[in-house]
Amino acid sequence: MEYVSTRDKSRKVSASYAIANGIAPDGGLYCPTSFPALTAEDWHALANLDYKGRSALVLGKFLTDFSGEELADYAAKAYADDKFGGADTAPVVALGGGKHMLELWHGPTCAFKDMALQMLPHLLTASLRKTGETRTACILVATSGDTGKAALDGFHDVEGTKIMVYYPVDGVSPMQKLQMVTQEGKNVEVVAIRGNFDDAQSAVKRIFTDETVREGLDKDGMMLSSANSINWGRLAPQIAYYVSAYCDMVKNGAVKMGGKINICVPTGNFGNILAAYIAKQMGLPVNKLICASNRNNVLTDFFKKGGSYDKNRDFYTTTSPSMDILISSNLERLLFFASDYDDKLVAALMEQLAKGGSYQVAADVFAKIESDFDAGCCDDAAAAQTIREVWENEHYLCDTHTAVAVRVYEDYRARTGDTTPAVIASTASPFKFCRSVIEALGGTLEKDDVSQLDVLTGLTGVPAPAPLAALAGKTPRFDRVVDKTDILSTVGLLRDL
Ligand SMILES: *Cc1c(COP(=O)(O)O)cnc(C)c1O
Repeated sequence: MEYVSTRDKSRKVSASYAIANGIAPDGGLYCPTSFPALTAEDWHALANLDYKGRSALVLGKFLTDFSGEELADYAAKAYADDKFGGADTAPVVALGGGKHMLELWHGPTCAFKDMALQMLPHLLTASLRKTGETRTACILVATSGDTGKAALDGFHDVEGTKIMVYYPVDGVSPMQKLQMVTQEGKNVEVVAIRGNFDDAQSAVKRIFTDETVREGLDKDGMMLSSANSINWGRLAPQIAYYVSAYCDMVKNGAVKMGGKINICVPTGNFGNILAAYIAKQMGLPVNKLICASNRNNVLTDFFKKGGSYDKNRDFYTTTSPSMDILISSNLERLLFFASDYDDKLVAALMEQLAKGGSYQVAADVFAKIESDFDAGCCDDAAAAQTIREVWENEHYLCDTHTAVAVRVYEDYRARTGDTTPAVIASTASPFKFCRSVIEALGGTLEKDDVSQLDVLTGLTGVPAPAPLAALAGKTPRFDRVVDKTDILSTVGLLRDL
C-alpha cells in the first residue's frame, strides 16, 4: 500500500515513511492511494478475534510494510488488559432508541485518544527503524485537551523520542490540565499558549514547515514528527474500533451480518469520524455517518450549506472543549478521497482556507460527500439536558462530548425517521469533565478539582476511573505560558530534554 500527500500525489511513500514524518513537506496529509477491502474471510476471522486481534488485522490492511507478527505484538502491548481495565477494550453498550454506545475511554487517560496513542509509539519507533532514521523524533502536539495527555502517556520515556505538548491556556478542562502538568517522564515538555486550539494547531504547523527550524534540529540529531490526527499512524488504529463494534453487534444480535448501521461521532478535528468513513470504504455496512458538533458548528454548516466551509466566525469556549475547533484538519483528507484524489483541487482549497479562511467545494464533489454524511449541532444547554435525561431515563452517564453526539443523533432520528441501529462514539469518561456533568445533574460543586470525582460518584454511584483518582497525590511539573507569536522560541526547549 502506497501513500501520497493530499496536495501533491506525484511522490509515493511507504506507510512507515508517512508515519515517521507525520505531515508531507508541502503541508498536505498522507493518505493511502486506495482502500483495502475486508473480505468475507476477514469478517469471519474478525468475528472470532479479541480487540487486539481485530486491531492487528485491520492495521495490516494499511501498514503493508509491517509484518503480521509485528502488528500483533504492538496490539498486545498497546491494548494490554491492565491498561484498558480488562479484555473488553472498546465495549458496546446498548441503550434505548437504537443507540449503541461505543465506549472508547477505558484506556489510561480516559478519552478515546488512547485507542490510537497507545499504539502510535510502537508504530512510530518501528517506522523510524524501517526508514533508516537515526535522529531522535521530536513529537509536537497541539491539543484541545485530550490528545495532549494521551500522547504524553503513550510517549513518556520511549527510547528515541521527545515530546512537547501545546495547549490553549484557557481552553481545557481543569482535569485535563491537571493530567498534563503532572505528567512524569524525562523526555516530556508541556507549554500553555495564550490563544485557542486553532492558534496552537496553526503554530505547530508553522514549526513543521519552517525550514530553518528543521535544519537547526537536524544539526542536533533531531527531527520533527506529529502525534496529532494529521499523522496517518494516529488515524489508522481508529478504524479498527468501528469494525470491532460491528462484530460485537452482530454477535449479540443487534444487527444481522451485512445489515447496515449508522455511526454518530462527536467531532472536532474530523479524525474520529474520518476513521469511520474509511471503515465504510473498506466494506463496513454503514448507512449514514452523522457528524455532531457543539456551538462551534463550522462542520454542520459545511454539510448543510452545500460544501461551503467558512471559519470566519466567532469562536466559543464550550463544555465540550475537545470539539472547540474551527479548522478541522482531517476534512482535507475527505476532500481528497471524495474528489478522486485530486491533489491540485485540494491544494487550491487549502490555500483559500489559509488566505481567506473559507472555500467552496464543487457540486459534484459535494454530492459524493452528501451521500455518506449527515450533520447536526447543539449548544451547552442542550448537551447538559441530554446528560440529565440519559441518566434519569436510561441510568447511563455520558460526558459532555458524548452528550452532543447523543443529542444530534436523537434529532437526526426524529427528523428523518431513520431507525437503523446506531453506533454512537462515546469519547470520554464523564469523570474527565466532572464539573459540567455535576452541574448538568444538578449537583453541588466542590472547590478542588479532584474532590469533584467523589461528588459525581456520590450523585450516581458510578466509581471514578483509577487514573483520575490517582491525580490527587501528584505535583504539577510544568507552568510555562507563552504568546502564540512566540511559539517558535519554544523549539529550543527540545534540546534540553
Ligand atoms: C478529540 C476529541 C473529540 C473530537 O475528535 P476528532 O477526532 O478531533 O474529531 C471528541 N471528544 C473527545 C472527548 C475528544 O477528546
